[in-house]
Amino acid sequence: MKILPVYTFDHPILKQKATPVENITTEIEKFVENMMATMHNADGIGLAANQVGDSRAIATIDISDIEEEKTKSPYKIPPLILINPVVLAFSDETIELEEGCLSLPKFRDTVTRPEKIQVRFYDVNMHEHTMEAEGLLARVMQHEIDHLNGKYFFEYLNPIRRAMAHSKLKRIQLGHVPTDYPLYEPQKSIKKPLKALARKK
Ligand code: ZN
Repeated sequence: MKILPVYTFDHPILKQKATPVENITTEIEKFVENMMATMHNADGIGLAANQVGDSRAIATIDISDIEEEKTKSPYKIPPLILINPVVLAFSDETIELEEGCLSLPKFRDTVTRPEKIQVRFYDVNMHEHTMEAEGLLARVMQHEIDHLNGKYFFEYLNPIRRAMAHSKLKRIQLGHVPTDYPLYEPQKSIKKPLKALARKK
């Protein structure tokens, strides 16, 4: 398994609509394992493929470690792999929840979204699933499916809150926000001399 570097705001791939997966290959199986490992390494509960520089419609979710969710639910929700996910229906009831994003390090804000959704997706065996989700699961699914449609969660903020977020987003864009998980930094990797990498051994 490999930890993949996370792409951050404002890389163009994060504004791209994902391409549907047509069939599962061993390469996709490996890629999904790497996504899971990358998400867990960053203490994330969801990851979309474009956040690791891949434009296919794949997302991983794992909320099994969230205490709040455990106490509410009688069973543990296993890690999920969503291939070509789509939201089929949204509830009229909405709920406010704070969100964060591995592509927007250290930025959090409250977003209002539908409380329940009906989702259709395929698993790694290309079996179709339709399910209803609520609570944190519904929230993470909406966040990840938005990524696959090229949308950030801060796009839901009202103009005032968005203006307040501006300087934080700018710092992320400039690569000035440190993280404890690897980020995709094209400029740095180009500048880094090969000798410096070899010396580390
Ligand atoms: Zn995100």
